[in-house]
Amino acid sequence: MATATMTQRILIIEDEPDITEVLKYNLEKNHYQVSTAGTGEAGLAAARENPPDLLLLDLMLPGMDGLEVCRRLREDPRTRDLFIIMLTAKGTEADVVVGLTLGADDYIVKPFSTSELMARIKAVLRRSEARDGEAGAKDLLRCGPVVIDLQKHEVTVGGEKLELTLSEFKLLSFLMRKKGRVFTRDQLLDAVVGPDVFVTARNIDVHVAALRKKLGKLGAWIVTVRGVGYRFEES
Ligand code: CA
Repeated sequence: MATATMTQRILIIEDEPDITEVLKYNLEKNHYQVSTAGTGEAGLAAARENPPDLLLLDLMLPGMDGLEVCRRLREDPRTRDLFIIMLTAKGTEADVVVGLTLGADDYIVKPFSTSELMARIKAVLRRSEARDGEAGAKDLLRCGPVVIDLQKHEVTVGGEKLELTLSEFKLLSFLMRKKGRVFTRDQLLDAVVGPDVFVTARNIDVHVAALRKKLGKLGAWIVTVRGVGYRFEES
């Protein structure tokens, strides 16, 4: 059960002391090493000085807001690959979309339960380990019975070959490679047809619908995130 990994470090950028306190308490109880910052400016400085394994970033901060912090972290080579989970308020889907476009890895809506947050954190950190261990296993993507052979451009489900269009193939491999992460329609469009082709973001919905149909029961693994986009998740 216990794996000999180093203690993972999490930085919290949040201006509400009560929330920071609760987060810190729960994270430490789960054996993470925690540091905190109460403003965007302080958080940015802390992240640059000593990049954490994961950043919990409140979007609504006085002064420099979370989106700006995210933007600056992504511009800086020292912090470009940092894993970021945004903490957002209800009804701020537009900010979430911007945040994901800026490169945040996931988001969680306040008020959230501790168990929900821990699950998200573990999922993101697992992805970071997978990313580190990715080299050498680039030709095959697996998720349950779904296997994608990137060389042969072939998808099988339980050994049965699926006939997919090129767009469907690209969409599925993109989502599976970044399993668990939410993408906006525009991001998926860039991944599937490239930024220079003029089609509307709603085209993604059409591709997703077709792909779900071909995947049958497993189509439910392409999850609609309301007001935001899609994510791939084994369920
Ligand atoms: Ca706040």
